[in-house]
Amino acid sequence: MKFNNVYVEKEIINSVNTNNILDRIKYNKIIICEKYSEVFNPKNQNFRIQKKNPSLILAQKKKKIVFKTPSEFTIGFEQNYYFSHMLNCVYDCKYCFLQGMFNSANYLIFVNYEDFFNEISKTIKKNHNKKICFFSGYDCDSLALENITNFASNFINFFKNYNNAFLEIRTKSINIKQLINIKPIKNVIVAYSINPQKIIKEFEQKTPNFDSRLNSLKKIQDNGWNIGLRFDPIFITEKNKKDYFKFLEKIFTNLKCSLIHSITIGKFRMSEKFLKKIIKIRPEDTLTFNYLMKNTNKEREIIQLFYMQVQKYIDKKKIFFN
Ligand code: SF4
Repeated sequence: MKFNNVYVEKEIINSVNTNNILDRIKYNKIIICEKYSEVFNPKNQNFRIQKKNPSLILAQKKKKIVFKTPSEFTIGFEQNYYFSHMLNCVYDCKYCFLQGMFNSANYLIFVNYEDFFNEISKTIKKNHNKKICFFSGYDCDSLALENITNFASNFINFFKNYNNAFLEIRTKSINIKQLINIKPIKNVIVAYSINPQKIIKEFEQKTPNFDSRLNSLKKIQDNGWNIGLRFDPIFITEKNKKDYFKFLEKIFTNLKCSLIHSITIGKFRMSEKFLKKIIKIRPEDTLTFNYLMKNTNKEREIIQLFYMQVQKYIDKKKIFFN
């Protein structure tokens, strides 16, 4: 991958991870900065223009690293946390909330993995008698830049020291070479966000297509990893519900259903604040967003129908609404 500009925080210019990442990419110029926020946070940036040719920022995450998920968010664990080793994403989903949350589309990687490990260890110790899960990929796609970050290999290596703590690696990426080369461990779940191809074409620009995501899921599962399916967000309507049912049939005839760790179902949701910002930068999609924000009884009925359909293949104890 090639970048025009790579910004590096002064304090981490000599860190091993910084140098490993720089060795894995091509770039024209390195610019040293004091704090990543100087580059990432200013308001006068154009997210859509930056998205076409993003810079890379290497920084360290200070202060809080591990966060509690919203209380309703679960895949069956007693305690749920998330962390972000990266902000922003190589894909360009129309519905992505990151474009409402950040002023910049540049890729920001936090290179101080050791500090993440320390914080995660502390959280695990605090919950030593509970089943606990950590979610990655909240502010990025967990695997899309694996070739540069080595995130999965590093964090899987860390999590293999723990039994009561799970890691969910959430992705749409088919970048699974590194996973296939690592011995699977039982407390990691590789979870794919997935939609029928027509929906991918309409809403999930630059992402791998449905068949290649399913193919990756199959390979990962055959290799011994726990997998999860995230139907989140789904865009099921009266008109396309048959496509969604066929899509489910194809998924569940290709995977070993009894070995799937968990399924989540969720509809599109977005805070008013983010929505306003997104409509400003994507005015051409205003109608689509207004339509998606509607929450009608009919829509709830169709999602319920989808849930019943999933239950034909998967034990309902493994299905969660988020
Ligand atoms: S894959 Fe996820 S993080 Fe990336 S653009 Fe799509 S919704 Fe956003």
